[in-house]
Order: sequence, then C-alpha cells, then structure tokens
Amino acid sequence: MSDCKMTRREFLKGVSACCLQAGLSALVLSSCKPTTPSEDMASAGAKPSPTQVSAATPTPAGSGFEPAYLKLHRTGELKERAEKLWAMMESCRLCPRECGVNRLEGMSGFCRAPGATLVISSAHPHFGEERPLVGWGGSGTIFLTHCNLRCVFCQNWEISQLGAGYKRAVEELAEMMLQLQGIGCHNINLVTPTHYSAPILKALDIAAGNGLRVPIVYNTSGWERLEILEVLDGIVDIYLPDFKYWDGEMAAKYSSNAANYPEVTKAAILEMHRQVGVAKPGPDGIMQRGLMIRHLVMPNNVAGSEQVMAWIAENLPKDTYVNIMAQYAPRYKAYDYPEIARRITREEYVKVVETAQALGLTNLDIQGYWWLEDE
Ligand code: SF4
Repeated sequence: MSDCKMTRREFLKGVSACCLQAGLSALVLSSCKPTTPSEDMASAGAKPSPTQVSAATPTPAGSGFEPAYLKLHRTGELKERAEKLWAMMESCRLCPRECGVNRLEGMSGFCRAPGATLVISSAHPHFGEERPLVGWGGSGTIFLTHCNLRCVFCQNWEISQLGAGYKRAVEELAEMMLQLQGIGCHNINLVTPTHYSAPILKALDIAAGNGLRVPIVYNTSGWERLEILEVLDGIVDIYLPDFKYWDGEMAAKYSSNAANYPEVTKAAILEMHRQVGVAKPGPDGIMQRGLMIRHLVMPNNVAGSEQVMAWIAENLPKDTYVNIMAQYAPRYKAYDYPEIARRITREEYVKVVETAQALGLTNLDIQGYWWLEDE
C-alpha cells in the first residue's frame, strides 16, 4: 500500500490540482482534501448527484474485458453477498481482530471505523502505483480511513489512525467509482478496504448497475480472513496484498500485536491466488486480473524479506508478480524504534532482489534504487 517513488502523503499534497485538471466533479474533488475527524462533512449523507457516466462508457481495461463482479451483479448475488457482510457487522468479524462489536449500532472496534458509516479520505487518479495499474489514465484510487493493523511506521497515519476524511453514503462511493472510470482510470483501487468491505460491496452493486466496467483492485495489508475472501470470490479481479512480515514477533511489535499476521497472510495470499491466478495484463499492458504482491523492504531485515521471497517461490508460480518496494522511510512513531528509524541501504535492497532472482522468481517489479545510500 505504498507508492513507487513518491509517498502517498507527498502525492496527496498535490492531488487537488490533479483532480481539477482531470475534471473530477465536486464530489470527488471534495474528497481530495483530508481533514481532521472533527471537521465533519456538512454534506455527509447528502444525496449524490445523478451519475455522469452511462453504461456505454468505454472500458479503459480494454475491449472484450468484463469484470468479475458484473456476472454476480446480474444474478443478484452481489447484492446478497453485500448483505451477508453487512450482517456480519452486528458482531463484527470482518477482519482477523474479530472484535465482535455491534457496528450496526454505531460501535467501533479496534479499527476505529465509526460503526457502519463509511469514511473516505480521497478519491483520485493515482499515477504512483504499479505501472500495469496506472497505464496512461491512472489508477482510480479511493483512500479509506482507519485501519485494523495500525503500524507504528505508517506513512498515511493521519488517514489510517486519525481517520482524516469525510463521512460518505454508500451511494456516494458508487458515484466516485463511476466518476473515476469516467475520467479514464483503468481500475477502482480500494486502499485499506478490509473493515469497509460491506459498504464497498453495496456501492459496487449500485455502480455496476450504472455502468461500472473497470476491475476492482483490493489493495490490502494481506491480513484477511478466509471467510471474507470467500465472499469476495468472483467479485475482486485484482488482489494487491502486502506481505509485510515473515516473523510474528515483528508483526506484533510494529503492528499492534498482530502476531498471527504471517500465518493469516500466507493463507490469504494462497486463497487470493486460487481465485484470480497469476497477474496477466491485457494486450494494452493494463492489468485486468490476478495477484500482485507487495513487499516493503525494511531496515535491519525487520520484514524477513529473504524468507518472504523464499515462501513465494516455494508456494506460488515463479511468475507471480512481486513488487519489491524500496521506499521505506521512518514516519509516525518509527523514531521510537531505533532499528527502523532510518531508510534502507542500497545493499539491503539489492540483497533482497538478488535473493528473489536466485530463487527463480521471474516477475519482479524492481524499483529504481539509485537514490538509496550505501552502508
Ligand atoms: S473490522 Fe474493525 S471492528 Fe471489525 S473485527 Fe476488524 S477491527 Fe474489529
């Protein structure tokens, strides 16, 4: 859940101008300016404007492509699955925390999402994601607030931990999806969707009925329950999970006692692969379907990067898409932990890349690392 060179925070600072250039409506543009939670949207719950996108909108994903969710929308099953997840919020089990709080009555669990209310930080074309997602029209990124991991080094902590964003109705989320498609984005990229999976499916059903045809990117920490992933089977075209840690002790230390992160994430990634397979771009180079794994290399091998690469090589096809990310920077509370209070070195990054190559992984997204310093 990170950009290739520019951090998301840096990107968001300039994104309002980008939205203006792209011609996004006020609905999307207003979501490009995160605020503190106290600055609640005066328009929260306002009726969305009529959609500006028709079913005849050209599909940036390429001719002949049909997203997985469309079939389930036509049969009515997408709506049923949305209702199933919605009901699960009565004793919330949408993520591995399994808090059991009644979000339908407004309670918040570990993620701090305010009951069943959707809070969105921004929606815009993103040009810092993986190239097959960005293409020429951008990845239609929707940043959702709050998080169930709350990592101490989070670069988007204002959004994930303070919940900086706007309350939005499900219908407004559907409208954002359609607008992003309408301005040429190749996909709808849902960042940190796990705790909002129920309203997301409801919005997707509405958007599909109004002409949405680009693939959904499920941009997740990877820490997902199998029961939820089974509900998403046939809905999500592109899974974009992190594989953050090899060692549960590290996960517990830096991600709020999530000691089972490695085992849960490994099972989740295998299930994602079972559903969508190896990531395959269309003839235009734009990704349409598949699994794209992200791994952030951290200082002092905190992430266990070589073991992560070895597990991928042993358990998934060798041409599995793996983005080895170099852009770790100490943010938020990272300076409280001396071992992660610096960027990685060039040697640390190259070692992971060389290990992955030696293991036979052939579909590596290796970022420019000229800017990393030597040890
Ligand atoms: S989604 Fe939030 S409330 Fe639900 S189980 Fe996870 S952390 Fe708890």
